[in-house]
Amino acid sequence: MKEIHEECGVLGIYGAVQASRLAFLGLQSLQHRGQQGCGIASVDEKGLIHLHKGSGLVKDVFSEADLDRLEGTNCIGHVRYPTTDVGGMENIQPFKITCKAGHFALAHNGNIINASLLQEHLDALGHLFSSSSDSEIIGHLIGTGQVSKGWEENIIAAAHLLDGAFCLVVLAGGKLYACRDKYGFHPLSIGRLGDAYVVASETCAFNALGAEFLRDVEPGELVSIGPEGLKSYRHSLYVGRKMCAMEYIYFARPDSEIEGCNVHAFRKRSGRILFEEHPLQADLVTCVPESSMSAAIGYSEASGIPLEMGLLKNMYVARTFIQPAQSLREIGVKMKLTPVRSVVKGKRVAVIDDSIVRGTTSRQIVSMLREAGATEVHMLIASPKYAWPCFYGIDTGTKEQLIGSSKSVEEIRDFIGADSLNYLSENALFAASGRTSLCTACFSGRYPTDLYRQ
Ligand code: AMP
Ligand code: SF4
Repeated sequence: MKEIHEECGVLGIYGAVQASRLAFLGLQSLQHRGQQGCGIASVDEKGLIHLHKGSGLVKDVFSEADLDRLEGTNCIGHVRYPTTDVGGMENIQPFKITCKAGHFALAHNGNIINASLLQEHLDALGHLFSSSSDSEIIGHLIGTGQVSKGWEENIIAAAHLLDGAFCLVVLAGGKLYACRDKYGFHPLSIGRLGDAYVVASETCAFNALGAEFLRDVEPGELVSIGPEGLKSYRHSLYVGRKMCAMEYIYFARPDSEIEGCNVHAFRKRSGRILFEEHPLQADLVTCVPESSMSAAIGYSEASGIPLEMGLLKNMYVARTFIQPAQSLREIGVKMKLTPVRSVVKGKRVAVIDDSIVRGTTSRQIVSMLREAGATEVHMLIASPKYAWPCFYGIDTGTKEQLIGSSKSVEEIRDFIGADSLNYLSENALFAASGRTSLCTACFSGRYPTDLYRQ
């Protein structure tokens, strides 16, 4: 089974002086969506595309001189998630593509589930690929369109062939295009900054740039941004409302608004519901910094149990989930989190975390808290049991790696060594978001799309 590697974040700027500098700032506020690599492609007045990308964090990949070379008022940018795959520089986006109609640049996040079929088709037509990224497939599909039809039609034709999750930004023919899959799996929003426009995976990038939120790109929509302003096209008549529940639960930044729902507010409400569903007797509530902070606030407020700093995070250690080897992952958790002994000693501790994937983090946390003197450790998870792999761009590993796919809640409790373990219900995700539709496939196994041959 193919592993999924495309969480990532995208950004686009149209009509701004020093667009690349704005993109540089905007990408830093999307950094949580990807730390492996990043890039910016800009287009200058003559229509020349300039591209700079590299491995590492945004602040380290771009020097002043690099940003100066990224001339022009329009640009797109990308941050790539670190994963266990071997893909190197060649998979870092944006991509610059040359076709009959000229040059264009594109970047995307998400995962195209019919990518292998499309690639076989393009291979048979003699197309050559230099990376394993779905973006290149999208680029080839756009590039093979008829020149006379124009960029809009060719992007629409390409989008029509793609199934799965994608948020796409394209720089072509003097315009910026933003396009979202018809199911609406991941967020993509448009903001206004004076006369300029900003497109970003999350609205937190607008906050950083001082841009004002205008609207979301709709599922199945292609938006063009040019001298005449915004124009909307549809690449599919189907409109899904399958926003990824994990965006709300874990992935997005708390200050982002996803389809009208603030992420922090969602998490806080989920924490409150977690208490209604699983009231506990405990002396203190602690989060696993920082991702479960909002849910822990909600649980503490609803229960009246004080929220305490039971665990401290070392900010300078990379996320453990992504360590390729299990032994390294375990050391990683220990380096990343430390129990605050004076807070937890002699106490019944309720730990709120957002999710359990392999179980490594929870197991380490329980043993650390016990070593630090906690008398009881109760794990409360602000999401349902994670039991199915994601095919839409969130890196969950394979089914075998997910502890919830083969073990019952009691078996997981036993594995992590907690006094109790409780998960949030699936219904609570709808209540906390105020939505009637979400993708919850990794909890329920009900995938909103065909899965093709992976
Ligand atoms: P694990 O140790 O494998 O059980 O991972 C659980 C931790 O990983 C949780 O504390 C989450 O905050 C975090 N997490 C959950 N989903 C993901 C994901 N898709 N990518 C990276 N980290 C995640
Ligand atoms: Fe998000 Fe899970 Fe759906 Fe993947 S399967 S898009 S992680 S809710």
